[in-house]
Amino acid sequence: MTRGQRFLNSLNDGRTVWLDGQQVPDVTRHPAFTGTLETIARLFDSLDTAGVREQIGFPSPRVGQYAHNAFLVPRTREDLARRTAAFTYWAEQTHGVMSRLSDYARSMVTGWYAVRDAFSQDDPHFADKISRYYEAARDQDLFLTTALLDPQINRAKRIDEENPDAVLRIVSENHEGVVVRGAKMIATAAPYTHDFLIFPFHHVDSAHPQYAHALIVPANLKGLHIVCRESFASVDAVQHPLSSRYDEMDAVLIFDDVLVPWERVLLKDNPEAVWRLRQNTSANALAFHQTVVRAAAKLRFVAGVACAIAESIGVDGFLHVQEKLGELLTQVDTLQALAIASEVHSYTDDFGNQIPAIGFLETARNLNSRYYPRAIEILQQIGAGGFMQVPSQATDYTGSVSQLIDKYFAGARVSAEAKIKLFQLGWDLIGSQLGARHQLYERYYAGDPVRTFANQYVNADKARYTKPVWDLIRQAGV
Ligand SMILES: Cc1cc2nc3c(=O)[nH]c(=O)nc-3n(C[C@H](O)[C@H](O)[C@H](O)COP(=O)(O)OP(=O)(O)OC[C@H]3O[C@@H](n4cnc5c(N)ncnc54)[C@H](O)[C@@H]3O)c2cc1C
Repeated sequence: MTRGQRFLNSLNDGRTVWLDGQQVPDVTRHPAFTGTLETIARLFDSLDTAGVREQIGFPSPRVGQYAHNAFLVPRTREDLARRTAAFTYWAEQTHGVMSRLSDYARSMVTGWYAVRDAFSQDDPHFADKISRYYEAARDQDLFLTTALLDPQINRAKRIDEENPDAVLRIVSENHEGVVVRGAKMIATAAPYTHDFLIFPFHHVDSAHPQYAHALIVPANLKGLHIVCRESFASVDAVQHPLSSRYDEMDAVLIFDDVLVPWERVLLKDNPEAVWRLRQNTSANALAFHQTVVRAAAKLRFVAGVACAIAESIGVDGFLHVQEKLGELLTQVDTLQALAIASEVHSYTDDFGNQIPAIGFLETARNLNSRYYPRAIEILQQIGAGGFMQVPSQATDYTGSVSQLIDKYFAGARVSAEAKIKLFQLGWDLIGSQLGARHQLYERYYAGDPVRTFANQYVNADKARYTKPVWDLIRQAGV
């Protein structure tokens, strides 16, 4: 059996997935998921493809088969380069559109494992638990995602003013584990993930320790409801080349008194320890590194679509079109350069791990929240009404109208069929439900950009910037 098929089979594990008001008995057979799951299964198979597996994986020390490089604990710059190569390969295979192929959450787990001794004082079992989990995830190809935010009910309320059940909390514990109640939004890839990394996104104050936990929750636990948004998947791969392959489902997780086994309780009732884990530079840098490599791949793809569209309608010679295409290329170079800078400025942490410099990655993630919506705007400005000059089915026309379509839908340098397909692809990026979701995703996946940009200022060494200014003022005799 192929690795991809093993992954698909493993999803029939009793999980409770809700879509359109119905429980989905088998996600692998539902049209909302089949296209996306086929893509993921193919990527899993690439770890067994000679010639590819060496680029994207490493032989697991325990089971011999190749494990994805997201699980590679980097000890050298070469290791970091191997991680980059794997992220790039999976991102390019999915045109940067699929961002939650679990290499982000896997990197987080790898980071926690790599710095495990930092949390021994907080919980003497942390190191052993994360080591066992890391090895199992690596060797069993576990698919992972994160679910961190509280549901968007009333953001003006503090935890203590909120309905106590709105925010995920531990309500009791017994010899088997802890019982959690509440909800988390949003978990991308939730219906087909094996495990969720669960911890609070924001700092929990010391008065409410029951809300401060770090858990790894199996998707099939009793009482865990995975409530999906509307599906944006299309079954028409010609008309919707992206929506038919890459719709990563987003879901809310509702925990209706879910018993999480002790083995999966990494930290509990300890706001400061949970916050240190959440803020851990090594783990975050390894995970953020993946997001930047992936985002650069997506901007490259959008730039490619924009250049092809400009050429296809003969507008690539106009100065303002060239200016806009040039802007897209500067976006790509900027993100790529920041990823490279993070690797060049990587350093050895206290545990001997080679860690990319996180500052460059945070800058890249912030820039991407503005770059991507701008890239889509440019694509709209270049294709303009052409996106609406696409017949509903490109290939089904017969008789004399088919010749007329060949004539009037042709492009400057391409056939009508090629141009129609190109604009269908462009529409999937700018106008389809999937396209709209992606603009929202790139704006928000790394957190609220208002606060993440502000954090760059708040956390900066401001004196480095202001000292030369005050020195100059003083030189002027003040
Ligand atoms: C498509 C998509 C996929 C996602 N996938 C995942 C995932 O897989 N895992 C995961 O953990 N998360 C995921 N997220 C969640 C993402 O991390 C959050 O959307 C992001 O952190 C912003 O939080 P929010 O959506 O709750 O917005 P809110 O915090 O509710 O913000 C809404 C508005 O109110 C403002 N606002 C709210 N509170 C404050 C405040 N205290 N101070 C100032 N302004 C405030 C914000 O600036 C914003 O304008 C996903 C989000 C999207 C859109």
